[in-house]
Amino acid sequence: MPKIVIAIDGYSSCGKSTTAKAVAARMGYGYIDTGAMYRAVSLYFIRERISLSNQREVLAALDAIHITFNHNKRTGRNETCLNGLNVEEEIRKMYISNIVSEVSAIPEVRWAMVAQQQKMGRRRGVVMDGRDIGTKVFPDAEVKVFMTADTYTRARRRQEELLEKGEMVNLDEIIQNLEKRDKIDTTRTESPLVQAPDAELLDTSHMTIEEQVDWVIERADRRLAEIHRLSGSQTKKA
Ligand code: C5P
Repeated sequence: MPKIVIAIDGYSSCGKSTTAKAVAARMGYGYIDTGAMYRAVSLYFIRERISLSNQREVLAALDAIHITFNHNKRTGRNETCLNGLNVEEEIRKMYISNIVSEVSAIPEVRWAMVAQQQKMGRRRGVVMDGRDIGTKVFPDAEVKVFMTADTYTRARRRQEELLEKGEMVNLDEIIQNLEKRDKIDTTRTESPLVQAPDAELLDTSHMTIEEQVDWVIERADRRLAEIHRLSGSQTKKA
């Protein structure tokens, strides 16, 4: 059975990672949360007081950063590690959300992360979520989804997520953060967030997680059947 790449891009807090994780689990694929990688870089930059405008410092820091994902058997989740230390909880906090889009707009940061992501998915059989997966990381992904949802729904989802982790943030602050991140993500010069011409739009404002997962799986199944049919007809010709 051939394996494909499923690219899920879109705005912050549309349900990309929850959907991508569930799709990966159902298909027996790997899941790569590329936002976590930019968050881990941001954490390192804060801890080491790296000046974002100092190219030399940024490059030296990127050389010293090693990001991995460890599978936690107890929770069944992939947890982000920065230089061997589990930073999964820390990188989800609001102070990281407040700087991550500035960090991820730095071209050198993007080049380093994109190269790692391409390496992680080179054998295919992955679901990757982010902002530039279908346009930059895997422009040849077999399934491309571009997710969106209205700002209020996204902010409410984000607030619930933070609350579950014990962080109480008011809705206005979250809305401001989402809008600021969207603006930076869509207007940066290096691989801005944009819907790939061949990506299908998925508006999750009124959908449940199950419906979102089924929607993506349906496209993946269709694509796999097509690949199967094509390889069958080529075998017959030969
Ligand atoms: O997905 P998440 O919201 O955790 O991503 C955090 C931030 O990382 C985004 O707001 C965006 O600035 C950046 N990002 C990116 N490219 C990706 C994934 C995330 O620029 N592929």
